[in-house]
Amino acid sequence: MKLAELGEFGLIERIRHQAPQGPDVFRGIGDDAAELILPAGHHLLTSTDLLIENVHFRRDWTDCESLGHKAVAVNLSDIAAMGATPRYLYLGLAFPSDTELDEITAFLKGALDEAKRYNVTLVGGDTCHSPGPWLISVTIEGSALANQSIGRSGARPGDLIMVSGTVGDSALALALLCDGKRPEPSLLARHHRPTPHVELGRQLSERRLASAMIDISDGLAGDLVHILQASKVDGLIEEVKLPLSEAFRRITEGQPALRELALYGGEDYELLFTVPPDCATKVADLCTEGQLKVTTIGVVGKGSGELSLRDGSAVARRIPVRGYDHFCRSRE
Ligand code: ADP
Ligand code: MG
Repeated sequence: MKLAELGEFGLIERIRHQAPQGPDVFRGIGDDAAELILPAGHHLLTSTDLLIENVHFRRDWTDCESLGHKAVAVNLSDIAAMGATPRYLYLGLAFPSDTELDEITAFLKGALDEAKRYNVTLVGGDTCHSPGPWLISVTIEGSALANQSIGRSGARPGDLIMVSGTVGDSALALALLCDGKRPEPSLLARHHRPTPHVELGRQLSERRLASAMIDISDGLAGDLVHILQASKVDGLIEEVKLPLSEAFRRITEGQPALRELALYGGEDYELLFTVPPDCATKVADLCTEGQLKVTTIGVVGKGSGELSLRDGSAVARRIPVRGYDHFCRSRE
């Protein structure tokens, strides 16, 4: 069955049936605006991501369920990076009329399963016809106690620079796909099914262990520079300390252009954060409890936003800031 047979309101009705509304939803799907009840003393945090077919994803490289999962996961990651609790989801969707309903159903399953895993409720959105590509706009609202969220501007000289998980896997999977190869399942999963580290982010903020935090979407180096510039400090990272998966090490061995993806590849969705030295052991304890690996990769120094890298030699060199820029494809 094609979307044209169900129509806009038929699709919205289906979505409404699949999205149970909790007691904190005063008005949800079906009204002109959602009306929500926030816990007393909490601030509202909001983040939006726009995903466009053939810009952000290719439907011949991913299945629709994974796409739904990833669309929500990457947005959840932004709320995680603030140390906040995600609560509400909005989905703006545009599909061509001849889209198979099965594809939309699979997309919604991925999106709603991922939302449910983090206790997030779908409370609204918009649904339109697209003349060509799929367009997906995901908004997540979360909340945090006043003065408890973690921004990018709090890093101070002497703080340690830490990162969760491993870096470069998602970008390596993408590079292999672009090269016409089939990446092994562990790498593909990092690309198509990223995990937002909501609990780690929340623990870091509740226990006040991180001075600044960001999630890695554009690459470790570029995203770290965002923290350094916002905080008006410099950073030094040790290349040997970068946490690399076994698959990443093996495949990039002796291939510097691929090895660089650990620093410049995007879409890791790991948390990158700075920690005052007296909180470092508490972060280590937190990770033992949560089973999520966190690695210290460097240190913050006095300065004005520059990043240096020590790659085995005693001398650190300044490295250029690179990240993905939608309007400037040179990546410089
Ligand atoms: P309006 O014309 O007032 O914007 P719509 O007909 O677009 O209303 O939407 C009706 C209701 O359905 C609203 O509550 C809206 O938030 C919800 N809705 C529309 N599209 C979606 C979607 N893709 N996901 C979730 N809720 C949706
Ligand atoms: Mg509308």
